[in-house]
Amino acid sequence: MHEFSIVSSLMIAIEEQARLHGASAVTKVVLSVGRFSGIEPDLLKLAFDTFKEGTICQNAELVIEMEDLELLCRACGARSRHQKPTRRCPSCGSTDTEIVGGKDLLLKSLELETEGME
Ligand SMILES: [Zn+2]
Repeated sequence: MHEFSIVSSLMIAIEEQARLHGASAVTKVVLSVGRFSGIEPDLLKLAFDTFKEGTICQNAELVIEMEDLELLCRACGARSRHQKPTRRCPSCGSTDTEIVGGKDLLLKSLELETEGME
C-alpha cells in the first residue's frame, strides 16, 4: 500500500525532528493531507499505528487535517478553494488554473516530550 511507504519515510522525518529537539517521546503528530493527494486517511492511520510500535512515536496521537483543493487562476489571478475536484476558476470561469494546494501530505506539527526538565 502507498500509505505504508509514506508513513515509513514520515517516521524517519519525525525521528530526525525529535532528535534535533532532544525529545524523549512524540506525543502528537499533526498531518495535513490534501483531499486530492490520493491518500486514504484511514489507511494512513492504520499504517501509522503499525509503524509506531517500538519507536519514539509509540504513544503519539495522530491527527489528520484534510486540506481542500486550492487553485490559482492564470487568467485572473484569483485563488479559490474546493472540496470537489475541478480546474475551473469560480471568479472568471477559466480552466487555465494551477493546483497550488490540496495535493500533498505535509507534516504540520509535532508535540514533543523532552526529558531533563528540572
Ligand atoms: Zn480566474
